[in-house]
Amino acid sequence: MPESTPTPRLSTKISAIAESATLKVDAKAKALQAQGRPVISYAAGEPDFPTPEHIVEAALVAARDPKAHRYTPAAGLPDLRAAIAEKTLRDSGLEVDPSRVIVTNGGKQSVYEAFQVLLNPGDEVIVPTPFWTTYPEAIALADGVAVDVFADASQNYQVTVEQLEAARTPRTKVLLFVSPSNPTGSVYPPEQTKAIGEWALEHGIWVITDEIYQNLTYDGVRATSIVEAVPELAEQTLLVNGVAKTYAMTGWRVGWTVGPADAIKALGNLQSHLSGNVNNIAQRAAIAALTGPQDAAEAMREAFDRRRKLIVGELNKIDGFETPTPQGAFYVYPDVTALLGRTFGGVTPTTSLELADLMLDQAEVAAVPGEAFGPSGYLRFSYALGDDQLLEGVQRLQRLFAS
Ligand code: PMP
Repeated sequence: MPESTPTPRLSTKISAIAESATLKVDAKAKALQAQGRPVISYAAGEPDFPTPEHIVEAALVAARDPKAHRYTPAAGLPDLRAAIAEKTLRDSGLEVDPSRVIVTNGGKQSVYEAFQVLLNPGDEVIVPTPFWTTYPEAIALADGVAVDVFADASQNYQVTVEQLEAARTPRTKVLLFVSPSNPTGSVYPPEQTKAIGEWALEHGIWVITDEIYQNLTYDGVRATSIVEAVPELAEQTLLVNGVAKTYAMTGWRVGWTVGPADAIKALGNLQSHLSGNVNNIAQRAAIAALTGPQDAAEAMREAFDRRRKLIVGELNKIDGFETPTPQGAFYVYPDVTALLGRTFGGVTPTTSLELADLMLDQAEVAAVPGEAFGPSGYLRFSYALGDDQLLEGVQRLQRLFAS
């Protein structure tokens, strides 16, 4: 009799998921801080500001209102869906009925569900690289295949239509489009966004456009939504967004998806079994965020802008760092390949992973290595931390790499 294969103890699919590399670096930095080491961490992917007061106030009022102690429709409170539809018109140039909006438990759930709803086993998703760590895992969980298309610092980390076309196969189902980008902070110019949108339209490829950093742009640049650039694309686009980054609301867990009727219906069915509605109180806070005064959000954006200029200027003083000036999000993504193979404090890193370890060991500075987002040779620095710390950490690196 043939030997039977033992049944795996846990799901093979889930066991293959990697721990989030960004959270891992952040956790390591925090553990060292807890031991009393003066670690400066550029690893976190969230604003360091408190949520603006009027938003917190709306949540306090809601918490005292028994109506907010109940389930809401799985797709979200009607007033929030209406506020999101207005925001989508305002910032993404897309006019949608509130029925085309589903409120999700953060942009992360929106991303996860988008792949679940669009992909069949073996379908390919073109992923411009460097990419946010969660995408490949979300694609794999939906039985899809991620096809990386890499754009380096010399192309400002922006893929071209020619590169996308070279990656296209009969199995290409979805293009992921992220502008401003995590990890690079890169913002696609409107003409390139339009060209990419037209390419997707021509080939009947769905687009998942992740616009979570849309309101964090600098130098007078506006992030043009791919559905604004190519309005006909709306019927084959899922737009991902949320309040986390713009309003310093990462912990509140409110995001959303905007899309065509059939996809939103399918998303609603999925979500009704997966999680039901998003926290009722947090939804009311999100209404206050979207419809209330925007000056606190603007003040945070201005602070990020100041820090962006500071960190780019200081990093570029280090021989071996090539740092394009990002125009969005709160990350910088230097190319550090010139430092690999050189010796610092008796250690010779050959990958950005080893370089990040060296920085943590010898300078007590944490940044996320490029391996978390694609090829080795890069580091992601989040500048969502106080100005003094921001400067001090980079000065430590200047000293480390001068040796
Ligand atoms: N998309 C991108 C590109 C992100 O960087 C993040 C947060 N790191 C998200 C989506 C998800 O944001 P949240 O779930 O906090 O709303």
